[in-house]
Amino acid sequence: MGSSVPFFLGLAITAGVLIPLLLRFRASAAEARAESEAVGPQLQSLRRTNKQLQDDLGFLTHFLKDYPRLARELYSGLGERQIPGVLLNIVQRSLEPQQAAILVRREERAADRGKAPPRLVVTAAYPEGAAVKKGAEVPLETGEIGFAAEAQIVVNRKDLQAEETASQIKPGSVLPGLPEPDIIAPLVFDQETLGVILVAKPRKSGDPKAALRLVAQSGAQVLHTAAQVSRMRLTAEMDGLTRVFNKKHMEQTLNERVYRAACAAYDQRGGERGGPAGTLSIFLFDIDHFKNYNDQNGHLAGDKALQELAALTQSLVRKDDIFGRFGGEEFLLILPHTNATQALFAAEKIRTAISKHSFPFAEKQPLGVISISGGVAEYPQDGLDAAGLLAAADGALYKAKGQGRNRTMAAAREPAAPAAGAAGEAARP
Ligand code: GH3
Ligand code: MG
Ligand code: MG
Repeated sequence: MGSSVPFFLGLAITAGVLIPLLLRFRASAAEARAESEAVGPQLQSLRRTNKQLQDDLGFLTHFLKDYPRLARELYSGLGERQIPGVLLNIVQRSLEPQQAAILVRREERAADRGKAPPRLVVTAAYPEGAAVKKGAEVPLETGEIGFAAEAQIVVNRKDLQAEETASQIKPGSVLPGLPEPDIIAPLVFDQETLGVILVAKPRKSGDPKAALRLVAQSGAQVLHTAAQVSRMRLTAEMDGLTRVFNKKHMEQTLNERVYRAACAAYDQRGGERGGPAGTLSIFLFDIDHFKNYNDQNGHLAGDKALQELAALTQSLVRKDDIFGRFGGEEFLLILPHTNATQALFAAEKIRTAISKHSFPFAEKQPLGVISISGGVAEYPQDGLDAAGLLAAADGALYKAKGQGRNRTMAAAREPAAPAAGAAGEAARP
């Protein structure tokens, strides 16, 4: 009995220590279970975020590896017209979207500037022939596209639906065929929005926004450079006073066109000889008594008359004809696929319109009107190259001056034969 006392005492002490400990452990275990239950969703969400980040990283790494090649394509000296197609191709390959479109800001015509709001025009769309049509337009300042274009940030559907964004979107028309793009990336250069890239349902997982931001930045830069180059080229080819082509451009074009006509004639040999493709005519004309106009009314009035006459002539020529200033008060019109008879008809139309136009102070001219005299020459009958054609037309012009001015004449084909005559009357319908 005496020996069992310490045993029970020990048992009681052990139980006194262990039971509270056990109870604490149980409480802690319950707490841990409760905590782990609470942490579970967080952990899952962290896992999901981690997976998303891994995907994004994988996608961006792949995109960045491919990017130098894409950039090389973009920066390979493309013309303004080719850029949207190449951009679209890059977007397709990088994101594999179900639909995509490239829209470019349409330059307002000088006459509409300030009146019509700027617009974005579809210049490339994927898939071809699908709902989004090339040439479709949306205003630059309204709707979701307008919002992204004005805010100059890349946005996805989630951003567009966020409350603070939705309230900033000005109501406006959507793009037919692609009313709700998933990502809108504006093409911004030097704080100016030059266009937008629209993407719907990208199939590649990852972060398409980041990739599209990079494509849009490069695209905008290339678009800006190409526009600058074409503006410079145009300026170099234009006459500063009259805004029609200058002599250098006209000479180059005439050489080119004669070469093309020669090739076409060669291709047609044995067939329909001298057909329209192998034919080309020119009309060279000079203002009559223009020195008198300057002397009477001053050089400034002379400049204005030159501008007015050039604009009038430009408005009368066909889309395919090329018109330019060839000297002081001398102009040249190149008429592709046109024979001498047809060219004389066009020349007469221009001469008549000029003589009937009410230029300021025209009544003080020796003929009572501002008029022109000109000569027409046809390839290959009147000249086998640009210089030959110009010489032939100049000869006819000289004759027209000699015969009293305000007339057009065809180049003489055979020195012995009578000249084609004052075409003025003959060529009228
Ligand atoms: P014609 O009927 O024989 O052609 O007589 P014309 O007086 O037109 O010919 P001329 O060659 O004697 O004079 C051409 C004039 O055209 C002289 C020149 O001052 C004027 N002219 C040439 N270029 C310009 C220009 O850019 N501005 C102005 N105001 N006048 C010009
Ligand atoms: Mg003259
Ligand atoms: Mg002259």
